[in-house]
Amino acid sequence: MTTAERDEILRALCDALPPARVVVEEGVLARLARDALHPARLPEAARTVRPLCVVCPQSTAEVAAVVRVANATRTPLIPMGGGSGLMGGAATVTPGIVLDLRGLQAIRIRPADRMAEVGAGVTIKALNEAAAPYRLMCGHDPWTVAVATVGGTIATNSLGYLGGKYGAMGDQVLGMEVVLPTGEVLVTRAVEKASTGPGLHRLFVGAEGCLGIITHATLRLFPLPQARRLQGWEFPDFDTGFAAIQALFDAGLQPALLDYGDDDPSPAGDPPAALMLGFEGPQRVTEAEAAEAAALCRQHRGRLLPQRRVETFWEHRHLIGDAYAEARASGKPWHERRPLLDFLHVALPPSAVPAYRRQCLQRLFERRLHVHQTGLWVYAGLFSVVYSGADVATLAAVHGELLELCHQAQGAMEYCHGVGLRLAPFMAREHGVGLEVLRRLKRSLDPLGILNPGKLGLNGTA
Ligand SMILES: Cc1cc2nc3c(=O)[nH]c(=O)nc-3n(C[C@H](O)[C@H](O)[C@H](O)COP(=O)(O)OP(=O)(O)OC[C@H]3O[C@@H](n4cnc5c(N)ncnc54)[C@H](O)[C@@H]3O)c2cc1C
Repeated sequence: MTTAERDEILRALCDALPPARVVVEEGVLARLARDALHPARLPEAARTVRPLCVVCPQSTAEVAAVVRVANATRTPLIPMGGGSGLMGGAATVTPGIVLDLRGLQAIRIRPADRMAEVGAGVTIKALNEAAAPYRLMCGHDPWTVAVATVGGTIATNSLGYLGGKYGAMGDQVLGMEVVLPTGEVLVTRAVEKASTGPGLHRLFVGAEGCLGIITHATLRLFPLPQARRLQGWEFPDFDTGFAAIQALFDAGLQPALLDYGDDDPSPAGDPPAALMLGFEGPQRVTEAEAAEAAALCRQHRGRLLPQRRVETFWEHRHLIGDAYAEARASGKPWHERRPLLDFLHVALPPSAVPAYRRQCLQRLFERRLHVHQTGLWVYAGLFSVVYSGADVATLAAVHGELLELCHQAQGAMEYCHGVGLRLAPFMAREHGVGLEVLRRLKRSLDPLGILNPGKLGLNGTA
């Protein structure tokens, strides 16, 4: 792009919006060119570049005005919320306009409907603070509660600690306002359930800003729980605890919190594994569920851990997310201070978990990698593995192999962080013909391909 073309885009933006909303300061451009994806985890072909500018709209009309400029000048638009995404979904790979949506800050709590009308830039923490005086809360509780925004969490269909009871972020959405890539504004009806055709709002859940820009959402709220019962259990090894977790679900229990895993499994054998469980809701229901779960865990060789351990886990659950929020806000380095780890969060049919875990460990040990943890989150089939200890190329190769094993086990390659740049090369194998369906949708909604190019594997044609 020539300097004259760049100046023309900036002029058009400053004509369409108050000029103070258009930022070209170098420090801001550098910071907002990236999200939380570690640069070493970018696929080989992808590189982040400086955006042309950052635009900070404060209303739906301003977002639509930016989209019209982007269309007229064929400039890429990259929607960004808190910038905490781990897949590069908000990273700039083609010079364009970063649309910083944190200025969309409206919050209206509707206690009689147990709903909140929220701007896309509101963080989950701020939403909870606004809902608390009504004794209501958002059902989504990610590690990054202080930084992740309503728009970003919907666009990645994020999952939180309490997902087992309240669902993922996509399940919180009743209605949505979306600026389409053409500049039209789509509003869906915010009701519990409609049977008037496919739920259009679902089109934008997990779409990572490639099909439209979420400006507002009407979200479900839940009563603050009357009671919360936390339990920590230790099992002799991963497979024994896994059998206990399966027994909990077989019995029809629905833990609000389920966080399970072992630390440092080695070729010498499996260490003990710890299960953090939580039930919440009306007092008597919660007590009954917790008692049932305790009986099942004991039957499956579980040993009750000191209560302080699970309480500390609960109190500390947002610490890493809070640290990221602080680093992001202050511009302090984040990745540079952290070791190069790699990880997978795959969704499997539950019965496939033990065999998949063994396959992963075998591949990782063959390469002499250090496995920090294997674990489950929220449901019996949501499996993760964290490892380190090799150069970037080896980590990338092993990551590809573990994803292939996941697909062979009929799994989906990610359960909460989305696709972004990181998993885009694997979308054809993930979706088969479905990828072409998604690409047709993309072409029909965004004929000029201006919205978040390079993400979700939607730019190809085959
Ligand atoms: C330490 C740490 C812990 C984490 N823990 C969790 C966790 O517990 N659970 C979890 O699910 N994730 C977790 N994540 C990942 C991240 O917090 C989530 O993906 C979150 O949903 C991203 O929200 P955001 O506002 O930061 O979005 P961003 O990173 O800004 O954007 C994410 C994607 O959404 C798009 N987007 C953003 N806003 C909009 C909008 N208004 N309209 C359309 N598209 C938009 C972007 O283009 C991008 O593709 C964690 C990340 C870190 C760094």
